[in-house]
Order: sequence, then structure tokens, then C-alpha cells
Amino acid sequence: MTEFDLIYKLINTQSINRKDVLTGIGDDCAILSVPEGYSLAVSMDTLVEGVHFPESVSAFSIGYKSLAVNLSDLASTGAKPAWVTLSLTMPSADERWITEFVKGLFALANKYNVQLVGGDTCSGPLSVTIQAHGFVKKSLLRSGAKPGDLIFISGSIGDASLGLHSYNGKDGIHKYFIDKLNQPEPRVDLGLALAEIATSCIDISDGFISDLGHICEQSRCGAEVKLNDVPVSVDYKKYFNDQPDYTNAISFGDDYELCFTIGSKNIIKISDISKSLNIQLTCVGEITDSNTLKFFDDNHKELNLSNKGFEHF
Ligand code: ADP
Ligand code: MG
Repeated sequence: MTEFDLIYKLINTQSINRKDVLTGIGDDCAILSVPEGYSLAVSMDTLVEGVHFPESVSAFSIGYKSLAVNLSDLASTGAKPAWVTLSLTMPSADERWITEFVKGLFALANKYNVQLVGGDTCSGPLSVTIQAHGFVKKSLLRSGAKPGDLIFISGSIGDASLGLHSYNGKDGIHKYFIDKLNQPEPRVDLGLALAEIATSCIDISDGFISDLGHICEQSRCGAEVKLNDVPVSVDYKKYFNDQPDYTNAISFGDDYELCFTIGSKNIIKISDISKSLNIQLTCVGEITDSNTLKFFDDNHKELNLSNKGFEHF
């Protein structure tokens, strides 16, 4: 068996066979059928060893996360995931590594009925690129926020930053934070539920300050946020002895929660979605007609966070 035969065999073991995949892995092209009335949403992300993940991360986690970050992009667009292609570059065909990688990839893919339909394989420093494809009727963009809209964050943010601290062995190993960093849950169902309601949406990959900045920039508006309303987890609070570092939570990325805006008339619908999906959705502020992003403390005193990675104004 050649190196490529080995990889091909391991990658070709997914149990899912979607009807809209007319030709999958094995030919020169995958042939795919988009359902009538839908548009195709396409997103691509690359993870490079040493840049996007530490060298000690398990192959399972790399497989899982490389798909999760792509499904998160589809989620923030309100798209239903369908297919992925995979470009895999690695130093050698290590059977154990690929077996674990594929397990992580397919664990998440199977959960969302996503089929791997093709890709490319070559040798070189470890790098994983995935392109994800999904279907949308009404896409959620970064550009639709209006002054007066309320700004929401799903779940909680900040845990991934402590996962990275943990990896660096700065203050002990915290499995909860490491799992949040390595195996983020893409908010696919939430994105689908928001598609008809939200005026704009983005996934928090670069950090809330920076990602809300993208919404403001593309919607040509500003925002006011109450820093202490930013949702952080119980574990995050505990880590900081109940004095959580909110500035860290909004500056670091990798949480893959959704940040979205809605017209205030839709607030009841948001609480219904929160209950039905069992996902905490927290209002943290409001879109303004200025061109600045402002943060306030509990006494409505403006905070100076201009040096925290927000670079779009
Ligand atoms: P080509 O020479 O036409 O690029 P390849 O030999 O690279 O074909 O690939 C053969 C088949 O295996 C193709 O259908 C391709 O999509 C699939 N394939 C190759 N590498 C991967 C991968 N990493 N993941 C999924 N499918 C792959
Ligand atoms: Mg090829």
C-alpha cells in the first residue's frame, strides 16, 4: 500500500451518504446538487501547526476543530451545513495520527449530517484546510445592523483564552478550558433559528471587540456595550475568584459563539429561541449611529479599551 492509498482508505470511511452527493470521493470532481430555492454558502479556513494550534494538540482535536471553525462560519451566515472538502498537508502518512484525525473530523461531521466529498493530500509541514458548503434561503450578513438594534452574545466567551493559558502550562492544566479551546461547539442550530430574525451576525473567532467591530464597520454604525454584561462561564468566574477579567474575555478569540443584532421588537422571539435550544443569549449593548465602539462600566463611565486589538476605526 502506498502512502496515498493509506490516507485515501482512512479518509474514505465516513458512514454518511447524502442523496445530494451525486459523486463523492474518488473521481476528479465531486458532483453536488443544491436544493431548489436555496443559495450555496461557502467558507474556508486553514489551521497550521504552531500558528493555530500548539504542537501537542491531539490529532482528534485537530480534526474536530478544523471542521468546527468552518461550521461556525456557516452558522453565523444562517446556513445549513451539507458538504466539506479537505486539503491535508502532513510530513508523512502516520496511520495512527490520521486515524485519530479522521475520528475527530467525522465525530462532528456526522452530528450535523455533513459529508466529506473530496480534497487533496500532499506532504509538507502539518496544515489542514477545510472548505465547508451549506444551504441558505435568507443569509445573515455582517452588514445589516441598524442604530437602536440590540447586541447579543450566545453562550459565554473567554474560556478558550484560558485553554491556551493552560496549554502553555502557565497555571496548571484545566481540562474544561482546554476542551473549550480544542472542541468548540459550532452554533449551527442557533444560526438557522436567527436567520429570519437577526439583522446581522458574526461568529466570535478573533475576539468580541474585533468581531463586533466588523459588524459596525460593515453596517456603518457604532456600538455601546456594558462590559460587565458580557457573559462568562461559572468556571471562568471561579478561575478569577469571582472577579472575572472581562477585558480578556472580549479581547481573545477562539470561542466560536455568535454575536448578533436584532430589532428590539424581536426580543421575545430571542427568549423563545434561547429556551427551545437551551442556549443562553445575553444582551450586552446597543447599536448606535456613531462610528465608534464604546465600552462602559456599571456606573456608565466609559472605559478606555482602545489598545485591545480593535483596529477597524
Ligand atoms: P487528483 O490527482 O485528480 O487531484 P487525487 O489523487 O488527489 O486526485 O485524489 C483522488 C480522490 O481522492 C479525489 O476524489 C479527491 O477529491 C480525493 N481526496 C484526495 N485527498 C483527499 C482528502 N484529504 N480528503 C478527501 N478527499 C480526498
Ligand atoms: Mg489531488
